[in-house]
Amino acid sequence: MKVTWSDVDNKLSLVRTRIHRTAHIVVDSSKCEVCPHEACVYGCPATCYRVIDGKVKFAYDGCVECGTCDVMCDQGAVTWTYPPGGFGVLYRLL
Ligand code: SF4
Ligand code: SF4
Repeated sequence: MKVTWSDVDNKLSLVRTRIHRTAHIVVDSSKCEVCPHEACVYGCPATCYRVIDGKVKFAYDGCVECGTCDVMCDQGAVTWTYPPGGFGVLYRLL
C-alpha cells in the first residue's frame, strides 16, 4: 500500500503531546550550519525540522519520538532522550 503525506497528516492529527519544559532532543545548530544534506528535514514525519531563511530550525514540541532524526543525522548534531514519564507523545487515539 502506498503511503502519502496526506495519510501521515491524518495520523498526526490524532496524536497528542504533553510538552515538558526541558527539550528531549537538543540539536547543535553549529553542525547544522555546515551540514551537507539536511537529512532531518526530509526524514522527520512531524516536520520538527524546517529550513527557515536558509537555516535548519528545530522545535521539539510536535515530536512523535520515532527516533528518525537521531538515526539520520550523521553529523553528531542530535542529542536524543525520551521525555520524562507522563510527558511526550500520546498515541491512544490511533
Ligand atoms: S542532519 Fe543533523 S547536522 Fe544535518 S541539519 Fe539535520 S540535525 Fe543538523
Ligand atoms: S524523533 Fe522523529 S518526530 Fe521527533 S524530531 Fe526526530 S524525526 Fe522528528
